Parts: sequence; structure tokens; C-alpha cells
Amino acid sequence: MPQFLTLWRFFNKELIKFLSLAGALMLLGALWGQALWGFVGALVITLLLQWRAMYLLYTWLRFNSHEPPPNLRGIWASVVYTIYRLQTSERLARENLVSIVERGRASLAALDEAFVLLDHDSLAAWWNPAAERILGLQPGDQGRSILNVIRNPEFHEYFQRKPQSDTPHDGIKLASWVNENQFIQCEITRFGKNERLLIAYDITRLHHLEQVRKDFIANVSHELRTPLTVLAGYLETYLDQDDLNPRWRRGFSQMQQQTRRMTNLVNDLLMLSRLERTGANLVKQEINMPALMGQLFADAEAYNADYGHQLHLDIDSLSHLIGSEQEIASAFGNLITNAIKYTPKHGSINLRWWTDEQGGYFSVTDSGIGIEQSHIPRLTERFYRVDSGRSRESGGTGLGLAIVKHVLLQHDAYLSITSTVGKGSTFTAVFPSERIL
Ligand code: ADP
Repeated sequence: MPQFLTLWRFFNKELIKFLSLAGALMLLGALWGQALWGFVGALVITLLLQWRAMYLLYTWLRFNSHEPPPNLRGIWASVVYTIYRLQTSERLARENLVSIVERGRASLAALDEAFVLLDHDSLAAWWNPAAERILGLQPGDQGRSILNVIRNPEFHEYFQRKPQSDTPHDGIKLASWVNENQFIQCEITRFGKNERLLIAYDITRLHHLEQVRKDFIANVSHELRTPLTVLAGYLETYLDQDDLNPRWRRGFSQMQQQTRRMTNLVNDLLMLSRLERTGANLVKQEINMPALMGQLFADAEAYNADYGHQLHLDIDSLSHLIGSEQEIASAFGNLITNAIKYTPKHGSINLRWWTDEQGGYFSVTDSGIGIEQSHIPRLTERFYRVDSGRSRESGGTGLGLAIVKHVLLQHDAYLSITSTVGKGSTFTAVFPSERIL
């Protein structure tokens, strides 16, 4: 309704203007007895004025729209004003958008981290200057596949790895191919229609600090080995003597117990250092899983002698696994001894190996004490124990699950833990299908 009123107002004005002009010209024409020609003349003048306005509007829109609008009157003035207002607000919105994009670009350019925007075909669409410094991209690489630009096998393997929904995508640490002695961390984030953002940053300092820590632990553990062996040897000799004073015997046997604990600890620390040092995927043997399961079961039966649990073995797949047999056996053995240790006597323990299209699975299920949900995410941290008293009593070092996690990481696998307090737990090692034969 308001639009209609506005239209009527304009129409009214135009009509009054036309009628005034027609009246004046008809009067003039009447002087010569030609009033009708006066009316025709008014019509022609009005029409010419309208065409002129239309022509001015057209040429302004078509050729000079960035200049101020033509000075028109009546309804045309309103049309011009409306178009001009729309144009101005659109220009302001566009300028605003451009300034946001420019500010975004400028802030990304100022960052020390490398950002590379990849389209759905993994083609490099845009990157900031740090990407040229850190990843070695060149201006001519625009529109090329990132896999042709970065020719690092470990990067290719990480880039093509399928994202797993239930494991965090951690990124990868790589030795730089641009600067010797530099280490970089690469992470990939997916967004939109299978587009990706590659982020890379320099972690050389962190890498050196980590190296110092690892070397320190490895050296201390190594240095402790000899004194511990000497201590254990003498203690065993003394304890073997039949005429040993019972008061001394108690002390010596406690010392022997603690020496064993320290030896276990040192061995576990050395194993962790070794796993950390020998990067991922070094050993690629074909592990006969059904045979290994049989061997693990036999070891479990021997360890179970003091506990009296019911042990079950399910081999649901004859598939083999690719990896290091020694390390896999040690990791699975760790899960089995934990299940036996943390289950009250006469419980039941189930070992299982199976495969499907997604990969292979080794699981240990026990009917033991279980673990509260809040502890589960931290179990694979070094020295993390739910009940340290119980762990020490059973000769635990608190490093077993950290070792398991490392071994699995080296096999592109991960550990999944489910547990109910008082009912038991299931520890499952999940391997990707590429590792199954
Ligand atoms: P530890 O040498 O103490 O056994 P681990 O790293 O092997 O160290 O295990 C860490 C902690 O996880 C243990 O101290 C224990 O509290 C808990 N845990 C591990 N396995 C089980 C299990 N099967 N049932 C209940 N708790 C477990």
C-alpha cells in the first residue's frame, strides 16, 4: 500500500505538470483557433522530456555509473536516487569484504607458520610467504599438485593416510627438505568440499630439547645397568648361603626385590628410548599371527599358574600382519600380563585375533577390576597408574602401556580401551588394512 501511494503521488505530480503545460499551449493555440494542436504540442514536449530523461539515465548506467548521477526531476530523480543508493551500499559492502580479505591475507603473511590452501584435487591454490621459506614452494607452483611440489615420501604417506574418526589427527614431524638441520611439524585440516589447509611450522628447538631429554634418559638407564647387575649378582650369592643370619636374609631379600624392580624399570626405559630412536616403520616382517597367538597363549598359561584364571583363545582370521614380530610380541605380551595381573584370582581372560575390510584387531578381554572412565585417556602416559600400590606390588613399572602405545604407533595402529569398574576391561590393538596380508 505505501508503494502504491508513492506511485500515485508521483503520477499526480506528473499529471499536473502535463495538464498545466497542455492548458497553457491550448490557450496559446486557441489564439489562432488551433487549441487541439496546442494539446498535441504538449504531448510531444512531455514525450521528448521523458525520452531525454531515459537517455540520460541509460548513458549514466551504461558508461559513467562511477560518476555522480545526472540531475533529473520528478519520478526520474527518484529512480536515479534509488539506483545510486543501491550502488553505493553495494560498493561499500564490496570494499568492506575486500578489506577483510586483505587484512586476513596480511595477517597470514605476517605469521611465521606456513599456510597452504589446497583445493579438492590437492592443487596448491594459495599460500603465505612463510610457506616458501618452510616448505620451499615457488611462485610457479600455483595450480600444481602439492604431492609434486613436496617430494618427501613421509609427507606423501601422511598426506594420503585416511583420516580415522576415532583417533586424533596429530600431524607429522619431518626433517626439513629445505634447510638441513631443521625440523618441521606438518598438519592437515579438512574443510568445505574436500578442501584442505596444510599448516607447517618450525620445531627445530623443540626437537633438540626432546633429543636432549631422550639422550639423558637413555644414558642414565644405560649407566645404571652395570651397577644393578653387580648388585643383583652379589645379592643372589649371599642369599644362596644356607648359614645366612635370618635378620640379614630378610634385608637381603628385600634388597633383591627392589633391585629387580629397578632392573625392570631400567629395561623398560631403555626399550622406550630404543622405540623412540628407531623412527616408524623400520621393520616390515610378515608375522604369522595364528602362530604368534599360539605362542602368546602358551606364555600366558605359564604366567597364569599363580592366578588360576580361565584362559580362552579365539583365532578368527588366518591373516598375517606386517611389522616387527619381536616388538608386537612384547606389546601383546604386556597387555596379556596386565590382564592377568589386574584380575582377581580365578577370573577369565580372552585373547582374540580377527580381521575385516578396515583392518586387523588383537584384543585382550579380562573379567578384572576394571578402570574408571576418567583414567582411560591417560593410561598410556609414562608412569601413569590407577592404583600405584597395586601396580608396584605386582612388579609393574608404569611404563608397560606407554611401550605398547609406541610399538603400535610404529605399526600405524592404535590402542582402544573399554572398561567397566568391577566387571573387566578390553584392550584392542587396531591395525590398518594396509598392514594385513
Ligand atoms: P604397570 O606396570 O603399572 O602395569 P602399565 O603401563 O602396564 O603399568 O599400566 C598402567 C596402569 O593401567 C596400571 O597401573 C593399571 O592401573 C592400569 N591397567 C592396565 N591394564 C589393566 C587391566 N587389564 N585392568 C585394570 N587396570 C589396568
